[in-house]
Parts: sequence; C-alpha cells; structure tokens
Amino acid sequence: MSETILIAGAGIAGLMAAMALARDDRSVVVVDRDPPPPALSVDQAFDEWERKGVTQLRHSHVFLGRLIKLIRTQHPRLWTTLIESGARECSFGDALPPQLRARYRYAPGDEDMSFLFSRRTTLELIMRRYAATLPGVAFATEAGIRGVLTDGDRVTGLKVQIGGEMREMMADSVIDATGRTTQFPDWLGLNETVVDTSPAGILYFTRHYRLLDGAEEPSRDGPPGAGDLGYLKFGVFAADNRHFSITLAVPEIETDLRTAMLNPDVFDAVCREVPGTARWIDAARAEPASKVFGMGNLISLWRSYRKDDAPRVRNFYPIGDATLRTNPLYGRGCSVGAIMAHLLADIFAETADPAERLKRLETRTREELHPFYDLMAKQDAQAIRRARNEQMPGYKPRFRARVIKSFAEDAVGPASRGDIEVMRAVMRGFHMLENPTAWTKRFGIMARVMKAWATPKALKKNLYPPKPGPERAEMLRALGLAA
Ligand SMILES: Cc1cc2nc3c(=O)[nH]c(=O)nc-3n(C[C@H](O)[C@H](O)[C@H](O)COP(=O)(O)OP(=O)(O)OC[C@H]3O[C@@H](n4cnc5c(N)ncnc54)[C@H](O)[C@@H]3O)c2cc1C
Repeated sequence: MSETILIAGAGIAGLMAAMALARDDRSVVVVDRDPPPPALSVDQAFDEWERKGVTQLRHSHVFLGRLIKLIRTQHPRLWTTLIESGARECSFGDALPPQLRARYRYAPGDEDMSFLFSRRTTLELIMRRYAATLPGVAFATEAGIRGVLTDGDRVTGLKVQIGGEMREMMADSVIDATGRTTQFPDWLGLNETVVDTSPAGILYFTRHYRLLDGAEEPSRDGPPGAGDLGYLKFGVFAADNRHFSITLAVPEIETDLRTAMLNPDVFDAVCREVPGTARWIDAARAEPASKVFGMGNLISLWRSYRKDDAPRVRNFYPIGDATLRTNPLYGRGCSVGAIMAHLLADIFAETADPAERLKRLETRTREELHPFYDLMAKQDAQAIRRARNEQMPGYKPRFRARVIKSFAEDAVGPASRGDIEVMRAVMRGFHMLENPTAWTKRFGIMARVMKAWATPKALKKNLYPPKPGPERAEMLRALGLAA
C-alpha cells in the first residue's frame, strides 16, 4: 500500500472523503463510534438505525446542486442506487414558481441546479453501502476515538476504544470528519483553532410525516412551502418514499414559542396556522411519522490549523463540520463536506508533503467557501435583529434596513419570479456552483433587477408571493401563548 489513511467519522464528509480517496493502492479506514448500518429497508433504517454520533440525523435535510453534481459525475452508480431507493431529483424546471414553470425552456447548466429530496438517513445509508464496495475502503464501527497518537507535531494514528479494549491504529494521514463536536483540537493540545464564529440565532424543530395511501403531495402552485415570518421560519422538505418533513426554526429569543414547540400538538397547530404547511399535514393527506425533534446550539464556525503561514500539525486534515460549520437553514453543510472531501482528494494526488497539503486545503477552502460563510453571517445577524424587533410593538426599522428589505422583496424577489435569466443567475449561487454574490456583478442581471425595483407595485403584483402566515401576536393568540 502506498498510503494508509484513517478517516475519523462516517458522516457525510467522512463518507465523501472515503469515496474520493478510494484507490487500489491505498488503505482507507473509516472509524466511527456508531454501529454499522442495519441490513434493513430505508424506511426501517429511518426508525431503527442508531446514530448517536449525528444529532441532526433525523432533522430535515435538502441536498443542493453542488453535492448532487459531485455524486452524479463522480459516483454515477451511487446516484442510480439513490434514485432506485426512492430519493427524488427535483430539477431546476420543477422547482420554478408557476409563472416561470409554464414557459420554461431548458438551457445548458440547468441540470446542475437540481435538489435531491431524501431523508438524511436514506442518503447516508445508501452512501455508506456504496462506499463499502470501493477498492481499499474498510470500516471500523462501534469504535470510539479517544485521542490521537503523535510524534512531535506529526499525527501518527488514533487511540480507539473497541468494546472494552483500547487500540492504537497507525496511519500516514488522519482526516478529522467527526463533525460539530470534534475533540481533535483538545487532543492535539491546540487551542485557538477557531478563527471565526457567529450565532445562527435559531432553534430547529422537525417532524416527519407520511402521505396516506392514495394521497398525493399538494401542487407546487399553492402557498409557498417555505417562508420567513420574522418570529418563525418554516420549510416543508419533500423526501423519499412518500415521506416529507416540516421544520420550524424559532429565534432563540422567542422563549415561550420554543419551549412549547416540542409538543407535537403545538407543532401541528403552528403548521395549521401557516397556509404553506397546513395543506401538507391535512389529516386527509398525511399522518405523523415521528415525534418532534429539537436542536439548539446552532452556530457557524470556522477553524484553522495553521498559524503565520505554517502548519501547527502535520499529517492531519480536518473537513466538514469539524472545521467549518454553517447555519442549517441554508442547507449547505453536506455540500461543504463533499466539496472539502474532493478538494482534499485532488490535493493528495498533487503532493505528498503534509505541510503543503494542509496549506492547499485551507487556501482552497477559503477561496471556495468563505464568500458563502461571510454572506451567511451577515444575513444571520440581520435575522437576529429582525426577530428582536418583532417583539417591539410599533417598531419602525431604520432607513438602511428598509432599503435592504425593499431590495430583497421588491427587486430581487419579483425579478427572479418573473424573469428566468435572473432566477438562473441567483440560483447558481444558491446551489453553490459559484460565488453567491456573483450575479450582483453581472450588468445584464442587475439591470433587470433594478428595472423590477423601479416598476410600480401595482404592475408587478402577480410577482409577489402570498402572505406567508399570521403576524406574531395572532399566532401566539391562536396557540394560547402570551404575546
Ligand atoms: C438541524 C440541522 C439541519 C441540517 N440540514 C441540512 C440540510 O438541509 N442540508 C445540508 O446539506 N446540511 C444540513 N445540515 C448540516 C449537515 O447535517 C452537516 O453539515 C453534515 O452532517 C456534516 O457532515 P460531517 O460528516 O462533517 O459530520 P457528521 O455528519 O456530524 O458526522 C460526524 C461523524 O463522526 C462520528 N464521530 C464523532 N465523534 C466520534 C468519535 N469520538 N469517535 C468515532 N466517531 C465519531 C459520528 O458518529 C458521525 O458519524 C444540517 C445540520 C443541522 C444541525
């Protein structure tokens, strides 16, 4: 074997790294604390697969074009199996608002802007089975990593507990894909790896549902299945095998609402107040398939293992949530893990020098992903302010805030809903195929957006979505909570 690689963590980033690095002359061992996937159907796995290492496993997930493109082009057999297992592609054309869908014509590049609709358990189960078939890839399961083996600043392996026994697993390279709770900085004795962090400002609540026999999903032409009410964000996530989930994201400062939300009756009551979710959970259409899952402590975070242009550790490469966490609302985390995994595989093919490998990984990650991180942190700060203002009756936003809101709601919104070229340009950034603000630098696109802004509201009223849901006081009243 030319190289032995240990991947710590069999989540999305770890699996994508195994898939990208697999080669006949390499040994790639993926080490995970959780049991192996059960030999069950995807529906049974959703109910039964024990995955204590991934708290978010049963929260709503949607998968963006960038991830889909990587799977489809690099792992076509995996793509086919996913679709055969019930995961669904939602193409750019399918996802368009009704005004644009009716006159949609395919253009090259549209095929990169598909969503994949699937429960996270389904995606992970099928990916895991696929990765296990690749040359040189093996899994060590129920194997809790307890520390790292080092020689000076070089990582030489992992200390792993399997059953009651502590083992030493040696490697040329160690990849940290242990996710948001990584302990590697502590094990390596490296404080100050966090170079940036910002709050997401929300808590996540998710419930899964199953369509009743003979029932269909509501048409996409009705009230939108996703929206932002300021005091609450909501989203319907279509999934595989007649399942879907709804996520309600509640600002941290909405204490009464968030405390009540774990109660399934309250969760469903909120969904019934919002037209875009109410029609999905109609008792004639669907039944609950899970309890309400809640999750907090959602922050965005960026780490670096280099200082003053020098590595602080060698033979060690962090990817995915272990080094770059994003607010789940944007649906980017799995794409981030996949992008980093593929960057790392390219870099491994280019150079064997550990210092250079880490440098290239961090530099290219920053070039590719920092624009997304930066914009997200700004948008999250705005959303946190908006949630605070919602609690102040009669609050009037400042001029700058009003202009930003108007640009989003009266310019970009109507322009993209009415003009396929604007929609394409905006969605390329959304799907992480290019810098998320690249469209703002294209004269032709900005001219169309500004024209939409200048158009009087009466002339573009068909380009606004319907009111997404009740005002805060109305919702709290309906739930019997004090405003
Ligand atoms: C509520 C929520 C909703 C989200 N929704 C979306 C979405 O819609 N779309 C999207 O793309 N992303 C979404 N994300 C983000 C996405 O889930 C993460 O970015 C992604 O799972 C990160 O993958 P990872 O492999 O880095 O970490 P994880 O998937 O968390 O995997 C880490 C792995 O490491 C293992 N592990 C940890 N510690 C040890 C140890 N000591 N020993 C052995 N094994 C260990 C765990 O068992 C686990 O298998 C969401 C996140 C949250 C929190």
